[in-house]
Amino acid sequence: MTEQTIAAISTGPATGGVAIIRISGSGALSVAQKMFDPAGKRGVENFIPNYMYPGRILCDGFSDFGYAVYFKAPRSFTGEDIVEFHCHGGIEISRAVLRAALSNGARLAVNGEFTKRAFLNGKLSLASAEGLADMINASSLAEVRAGCMLYAEKLTGEVKKFQSELKDILAGIAADIDYPEEDVASTELSDLVLRLQKVNGGIDILIKGYSRGKKIKSGITCALCGAPNAGKSSLLNALLGYDRAIVSPVAGTTRDAVEGTIQIDGVNYNLVDTAGLRESADEIESVGISIAKKTVRSADLILYVCEGEYVPLDGVEEDDPRLIKIFNKCDISPVRSDKFDVVISARTGENLDCLKRIMKERGAGGSSLEGAYLIEERHHAALCRASVSLNNAINAAGLFPLDLISLDITDAWSALGEITGETANESIISEVFSKFCVGK
Ligand code: GDP
Repeated sequence: MTEQTIAAISTGPATGGVAIIRISGSGALSVAQKMFDPAGKRGVENFIPNYMYPGRILCDGFSDFGYAVYFKAPRSFTGEDIVEFHCHGGIEISRAVLRAALSNGARLAVNGEFTKRAFLNGKLSLASAEGLADMINASSLAEVRAGCMLYAEKLTGEVKKFQSELKDILAGIAADIDYPEEDVASTELSDLVLRLQKVNGGIDILIKGYSRGKKIKSGITCALCGAPNAGKSSLLNALLGYDRAIVSPVAGTTRDAVEGTIQIDGVNYNLVDTAGLRESADEIESVGISIAKKTVRSADLILYVCEGEYVPLDGVEEDDPRLIKIFNKCDISPVRSDKFDVVISARTGENLDCLKRIMKERGAGGSSLEGAYLIEERHHAALCRASVSLNNAINAAGLFPLDLISLDITDAWSALGEITGETANESIISEVFSKFCVGK
């Protein structure tokens, strides 16, 4: 059955200079033909692929002057014939162009349907499609970079290498099973284990990288804590560059957690200003203080703001790598301890760059986030399953027959295939593409 021809506004429902309406499927050209009056009268069917042609896009009651471009199958994003109309970017104009496409034979695309067709037509892997969604939905530059690497098949490339080695190992085992009279030599067995360990080692390196990937995806949570009036809210505002939290000399002003996000080197740092830590008889302030303690416990970084003498932070080890000891108000008082990691003034902005550098070093776990592309929980889970199966195979070698070991290896191969999409079932595929917007 030939796929239906689909259409959608690819540029989203927003006003802009130009909007793009995309039509994909075997009927794309015929739909386009009925709604486009090209300048110079060259028929749409005679369009040279990848060239833009000016003309009138015929809509209900008006025609917009725009462009049409034809991408011929299979050299298009979806792998099918595509025609794109570039019209003026008003919401009503683009809706009218879309309606024209629908009344001329296309049907409205659902979320991610263009990319799903690209996947089904072998234009990209499932992980690559997810990278594209990550890029589009990113809330930080680091996420765009990571998504871009996924989109460029970095993870798929790694996974395919593992899969190909496992296939090779399985073929070897199958040959041995076919000749059961020949006992498997112990050297062959240790070679098998070595090869499996090598693949598993590669998978483990990727799995370990996930802690970095998670930071890219969800950002790094930084709890600002310290005694009342130390300058936590002032520091939050100074880092954000605008007044987010109330700054007041009245102690106990911040009761709820106040949040804001900054980017350092493209990575999101989610700053949470907390209630000042002190004994309080005020019921609401006490609730705030208990939220503050919870926030500190779960934070990736603890920005401990002090003024005057250094007092250890209750409940946090002195050598906790998450702890950044900050001396504030250096504009009015001299620093009296060498315990601090950084000396700043939230009021004048002095040394905030130095603080950001320390946040970057500690936040990224001492390693650069460059090259991190394992950011999807789905990929992480599949790699973990593959690793478990390979460990089972390694532990069973020499104890159980080869055909049983090959079952574990096949499981590992299949778990890896879920990442590329090769073995992903319909529900996984639907879940992935539901994250896309209509028109992508
Ligand atoms: P918080 O209770 O820890 O959130 O402290 P605030 O940010 O509300 O600040 C308490 C008081 O200290 C306010 O009057 C601020 O203007 C003042 N303050 C905060 N940071 C500095 C600083 O770096 N230098 C000076 N001179 N005053 C500061």
